[in-house]
Amino acid sequence: MSKFFNQKLNTLVPYTPGEQPKEQEYIKLNTNECAYAPSEKVLQAVEKAAVSVNLYPDPACDALCEKMARIAGMDKQQIIFTNGSDEILNFIFTAFCENGAVFPDITYGFYPVFARLNGVKYREIPLTQDLRINPEEYKNVGKTIFIANPNAPTGIALKREELESIIRANPDNLVVIDEAYADFSGESARELVNIYDNLIVCGTFSKSRSAAGIRLGFAFACKELISDLNTIRFSTNPYNINSLSMAAGLAILEDEAYTAENVKKTVRTRERVKELLKKEGFYCTDSKANFLFVKSDKISGEALYRGLKQRGILIRHFSLERIREYNRISIGTDAQMDILIKTIKEMVERK
Ligand code: PMP
Repeated sequence: MSKFFNQKLNTLVPYTPGEQPKEQEYIKLNTNECAYAPSEKVLQAVEKAAVSVNLYPDPACDALCEKMARIAGMDKQQIIFTNGSDEILNFIFTAFCENGAVFPDITYGFYPVFARLNGVKYREIPLTQDLRINPEEYKNVGKTIFIANPNAPTGIALKREELESIIRANPDNLVVIDEAYADFSGESARELVNIYDNLIVCGTFSKSRSAAGIRLGFAFACKELISDLNTIRFSTNPYNINSLSMAAGLAILEDEAYTAENVKKTVRTRERVKELLKKEGFYCTDSKANFLFVKSDKISGEALYRGLKQRGILIRHFSLERIREYNRISIGTDAQMDILIKTIKEMVERK
């Protein structure tokens, strides 16, 4: 650390993204990306946009907002686009957490990092014994509430009515529903932003839309909240969405059938792999996301992670005490998952 680093930040522990080792080719099942490449139409749109990169992109992000507004049945002033949904989460911590924040003890690891970066005091509410969010514990908390739904890394989802009960019980506090994985659960709370002025629903192009590399996230809320978020955006980087990502994003939204097909395939594979893992004696949470969260009495969480890495398969292991026997496994193609199952079988049988 240099002597110039802001003393207020000297205990900041940055978020650790999933590893991307370069020394060999891996089957990559550790960062919940989409297993399927973007469509040809997306590639063509990017190529077309590339000729104008001498110009700044549209800071209002008008075309994308209009398209998304039409899809979601909202006004375009109820939508904001950001450089990945990580950016919108950071903006929310900057804009709306003066009174502090709460989120589960086991959830997306970036929430505590953004809280510390923004000097926000936070409280973690423990998940229940079976790794669920108990909505009752989120009522009248007096702070901004962050809930990933489905939650990560458990994949377990709250029902819409349960979310709505939390939103209703906190009229003077903001509730942020992070729907990074909601396309795989088939249930979104986004229409609720038309009813509640204390709700922000975030989403991303990184999971169901085959576009983690373009860094495109978004949020829905009432116009006043989106206007505040735009104040932060225009005070940070008005050109946060580059022209190539904008063009790709638009092409993705124009071909929703392609996304829907990939979501369908991913969910089908998830359910198939879950059954196969159960046959091998694994316990799997009821994941509604594009990953499974699994553990087994036959092999420790760390041994499974290390053994698979040695054999060319990357999954995500967390060192947090409560979940160290688990691993999070992203859903790849059927062919990739067949190799995973075969390798796990060999490892478990050899023990
Ligand atoms: N929320 C959750 C729950 C996530 O798992 C992720 C991806 N790691 C994000 C938000 C951020 O996604 P992105 O910045 O790629 O849109």
